[in-house]
Amino acid sequence: MQTSIVIPVYNEQENLPELIRRSIAACDQLDDSYEIILIDDGSRDESATLISEAAAANAGKIVGVLLNRNYGQHAAVMAGFSHARGEYVVTLDADLQNPPEEIPNVVAKLREGYDVVGSVRQNRQDSFLRTLPSKMVNKVVQKSTGVLMHDYGCMLRGYTKEIVETMCECRERSTFIPVLANTFAHKVTEIPVGHSERADGDSKYSFWKLINLQFDLLTSITTFPLRVLSVIGGIISAFGIGLGILILVLRLLHGAAWAAEGVFTLFAILFVFVGAQFIGLGLLGEYIGRIYHDVRDRPRYFVRKVVGRDL
Ligand code: UDP
Ligand code: MG
Repeated sequence: MQTSIVIPVYNEQENLPELIRRSIAACDQLDDSYEIILIDDGSRDESATLISEAAAANAGKIVGVLLNRNYGQHAAVMAGFSHARGEYVVTLDADLQNPPEEIPNVVAKLREGYDVVGSVRQNRQDSFLRTLPSKMVNKVVQKSTGVLMHDYGCMLRGYTKEIVETMCECRERSTFIPVLANTFAHKVTEIPVGHSERADGDSKYSFWKLINLQFDLLTSITTFPLRVLSVIGGIISAFGIGLGILILVLRLLHGAAWAAEGVFTLFAILFVFVGAQFIGLGLLGEYIGRIYHDVRDRPRYFVRKVVGRDL
């Protein structure tokens, strides 16, 4: 098997027939074996039935993985990954926002030797409210992973088998796949892809689901927010100590009447204590951050090749 296409499906019965037709047409151009894995993420409409029928009608080309209930897009993609057998794995959305016709281009890049192929949506067809959070997130991710990618939201992506296997070994629950992939990728590239409006149905992301996703993204790349607590604590404490010293000096210069009978002094002491509390929280945060790292149990590395030894 050379290429596996992984597509999460959640209540997409209107889009499925066209998706399947266009995906098969695109994959037939690959001149190599392929499988299209459709993961039904606990849809409440006819999607599961459609997938089963398509799998029966296109045996060997379409594989259906039916989850018992809705676990979310990224969980569904992970389920697809664990069933993928191809050397290259391409993910795609089911709503036809990313044209399946781009699949051969992604595979071509993977064949050139890239580990991860991302895509940048040209003339993105989403509302302003939907694009703004993504823009902010992209900036943060670029800063903290050091991997420059312009568009993390676009799920038309390609990965090599090694990257996919390594991702499957990560034991964390909240995953954001494009970012996770980049933490293991060595050679990364991007291609421009077309982006159209959702073919049919509504976005499966409600406002809260979207916020949840952004937090998944943030926490999957960094535990820095926990450290911010210590930093804030340090600043407040330093301010309190500085204020205390200033008050002491002014008190010595101007005498007891100036100090408003100790009110200022109280404030200075208060600042020191508040700061100390924050530092304490930050310290807890440091431990929690480490526990979090261990619980996720990500592989520490993966070996690309061992040379000089025959197995
Ligand atoms: N999806 C899923 N489970 C969910 C939500 C979405 O499998 O709980 C799938 C959905 O069917 C689609 C893809 O994830 O194939 C992206 O969803 P959507 O197009 O609604 O997201 P948006 O384009 O608004 O980011
Ligand atoms: Mg979409």
